[in-house]
Amino acid sequence: METSYISAAPDRIILRTKPCSWGKCIFCGFKEDTSVEPPSVYVQFREYFAAFGVPEYLKVFNSGSFFDFNQMGSWEDKVSYLYDEGVRRLRVESRPEFVPRINSTKMYIEVMIGLETTFIRVAQLINKGFTLAQVVEVARCSPFPIGVYLLAKPCSFYKTDQLALEDLSQNVIQCLELPFFEILVMRTTIRPGSELEKQYKMCEYVPLEKALYEKWKEQFPIKDWRLKYDKS
Ligand code: SF4
Repeated sequence: METSYISAAPDRIILRTKPCSWGKCIFCGFKEDTSVEPPSVYVQFREYFAAFGVPEYLKVFNSGSFFDFNQMGSWEDKVSYLYDEGVRRLRVESRPEFVPRINSTKMYIEVMIGLETTFIRVAQLINKGFTLAQVVEVARCSPFPIGVYLLAKPCSFYKTDQLALEDLSQNVIQCLELPFFEILVMRTTIRPGSELEKQYKMCEYVPLEKALYEKWKEQFPIKDWRLKYDKS
């Protein structure tokens, strides 16, 4: 059945929204998941609740920033609506510049930021547009628990998978020392319409081999409850 939202599961919904205001990260396929005139977010939530019921803990994804007014309109209105429906804990994603400094709602909200790398040079190469220092500042000053995504081999800077994984290990160790409630590691995949896809087609970028990544995960020496891995 066709839905107004992109996809959903009992604890999550991927909304169809306006495009990300930044829109420059080379690995991102946000154009696939957004539209200039998306259906109302409330319609999407209502449809989702009708299909899955109202979870106490809901993860909302929107290819961009939940707190960006230009993309989402008032975040407080959305959160109040979800709270009134019965949601009590919310996970959203945002770029750091949009994360509010006060929570004017009753909802417990955790925020994931796509940090991707702790290294400034790599952040520049992937066009991230912010640095680790900015994310740490938000984690220290915002009322919301802040988690980060890290990407394994996000660009062609890494000439071998081994180098990419060595940097990833350093990134994880660095993040574990910072005030993040979760560090979610993901293997970079080729997203349709992304700049990385163009590089891949021109043989300028080779994705990290999945088997090597799986082995790295198994052998990574630090076990920490904050460290999670995406099923990529
Ligand atoms: S990764 Fe996030 S911030 Fe970057 S372009 Fe995609 S949606 Fe926007």
